[in-house]
Amino acid sequence: MAGGKLDYRALGVKVGLEIHQQLDTRHKLFCECPAELTDDEGDVFLRRLRPTRSELGDVDPAALFEWRRGRVYRYHAPPGHSCLVEADEEPPHPINREALAIALAVAMALGSTIVDEVHVMRKTVIDGSNTSGFQRTAIVALGGSIEVDGKRIPIETIVVEEDAARKLGEEGRVVDYKLDRLGIPLIEIATAPVIETPEEAKNVALAIGRLLRLTGKVKRGIGTIRQDLNVSIRGGAKTEIKGVQKLELIPKVVENEVLRQVRLLEIRDEMRRRGVTQELLDSLKPVDLTSLLSGSKSRVIRRVVKAGGKVLGVKLPLMKGLLGREVMPGRRFGGELADYARFWAGVEGIIHSDELPGYGITREDMERIAEALGASLERDAFVIVASDEERARRALEVVIWRLKLALEGVPEETRAALEDGTTRYMRPRPGSARMYPETDIPPEPVTEDLLEEAKRYVPEPPSKVVEGLVSRYGLSRDLAEAVVDDERYKLIVDLIEKYRGRLEPSYVAGFFVVTLRGLRGEGVDPDAIPDDKLAEILDLVARGDVAREAAGEIALYIARNPGASVREAVEKLGLKKLGREEVEKVLDEIVRELRDEIVKRGERAMGLVMGRAMAKLRGRADGRLVAEIARRKIREVLAGSAQ
Ligand SMILES: [Zn+2]
Repeated sequence: MAGGKLDYRALGVKVGLEIHQQLDTRHKLFCECPAELTDDEGDVFLRRLRPTRSELGDVDPAALFEWRRGRVYRYHAPPGHSCLVEADEEPPHPINREALAIALAVAMALGSTIVDEVHVMRKTVIDGSNTSGFQRTAIVALGGSIEVDGKRIPIETIVVEEDAARKLGEEGRVVDYKLDRLGIPLIEIATAPVIETPEEAKNVALAIGRLLRLTGKVKRGIGTIRQDLNVSIRGGAKTEIKGVQKLELIPKVVENEVLRQVRLLEIRDEMRRRGVTQELLDSLKPVDLTSLLSGSKSRVIRRVVKAGGKVLGVKLPLMKGLLGREVMPGRRFGGELADYARFWAGVEGIIHSDELPGYGITREDMERIAEALGASLERDAFVIVASDEERARRALEVVIWRLKLALEGVPEETRAALEDGTTRYMRPRPGSARMYPETDIPPEPVTEDLLEEAKRYVPEPPSKVVEGLVSRYGLSRDLAEAVVDDERYKLIVDLIEKYRGRLEPSYVAGFFVVTLRGLRGEGVDPDAIPDDKLAEILDLVARGDVAREAAGEIALYIARNPGASVREAVEKLGLKKLGREEVEKVLDEIVRELRDEIVKRGERAMGLVMGRAMAKLRGRADGRLVAEIARRKIREVLAGSAQ
């Protein structure tokens, strides 16, 4: 991107966030299965998605489209983690009150208006990720706000809903899903679209994430929190971006989407300037290029032609160079056209003239194509598609339709977030006929009892939690803030409490927020170390079996050897802690070697002795014990030499 940073405020950027977070409840939202994933395999059953007819009358066009694609869904149902409710063979049970209470607690903390009755609704889903063809969702509260960096961010809705089934993979028309995740309770918090910069989007997500964590009732780790964003710029369009899993990626995703909308508007202006009109685009007709290209060196074309397919092309008048324009890093406008063609026509892709010569298509081929299409290579562009005739024709119609949208500006889309912070077209934004009442579940009144239960989970404001950690455990302010921001906040506080009197709170806190984070510098991901192993490491330290200094090294070993147990790490690293006698022996030896130096330097020889001792004992003995013994031995030497 040559222009440097965009001026987001001047562009009128508006971002809204939807945070989805799994709740840490005992069981799922509408049945008694545990709310956790499993490695267990299960029975398998097949379903075809039936298009759900909304009680309001309309079929969601997106659902209908998905159904027409003729997909078959294969569900894996691990026993113990799914039952007849997940299989959609039994009506849902009453809504999980624990999940409701947690959501109500969050609503209280955000100052939202709590509903009198919770009504469960059905939301059509089109991809088979729910066996029933819809997701159950319920509004718990409306309004409220959270303050982030001095700005009030309004909250629109707080919702509880069921998580979808876990996608395992795809094989042709068959899509595999696992049912363990289906029905795990989620809270969804949606902000108003008032966020103005990529960085602010991240900070708002951070603040909401922190608040949720402070309830002590949310799940942790990859896949347990997911952010959806909606992004628009002035003159652009609201784009929904689904499934950002990493907080750090939020600014990048916003930046890329803003850039894409800026570039699409530039392309629109350029198309208009060159004289491209809706009428001109309407007049375009696909041309059969099959015989012309049957001798082409392009492998794709040869393969399709051999299988009896066709190569169709269409001239795009006055469009030369526009399809090759970058709309976000690594993605050209031609890629946007190809996404539509793939989704709506089911072709593998398209080839456009701005990327030619290439793909085995030579300059001579280009000239012959241009001639057949009546196009000028100086002025016009063209697109060709190789597929069966019906799909190829449909793909070119879709390309022309997408260009007509481009002439208007930015189309409203739902896009999927990719791991590099770019996005890909998923589907059009859904129509409004997606929600209708769940008749199997009666409305749940929000009673005084339920509100009382909720009060147990209401998170304190983060600043108060920091104060509490400082006064209660004597942590420094920096350390306390780092603990509150840590994903493992609850675990850290639990372990500080557990080992009080045996390990200083600052040691426990430092192990998590300093030592473990420091392991990133070694190229490992400390977040991937299971909580129970971290707790076990601290347990060994507390019992005096390994030295305090060794904890980080053990964690590093486990991060590098994910299957390894803590015991195994301790043994492999030779970190079994030495007893007092063994430490005495090592120091006896060092003091004997350094006797002359000690006599010469007196008490100042302490540094030298400690240096030698720790080089030998690091990780196997407590620094304080070593120092205590070293000081005594030095005094003994000095006392002896003075006689
Ligand atoms: Zn179940």
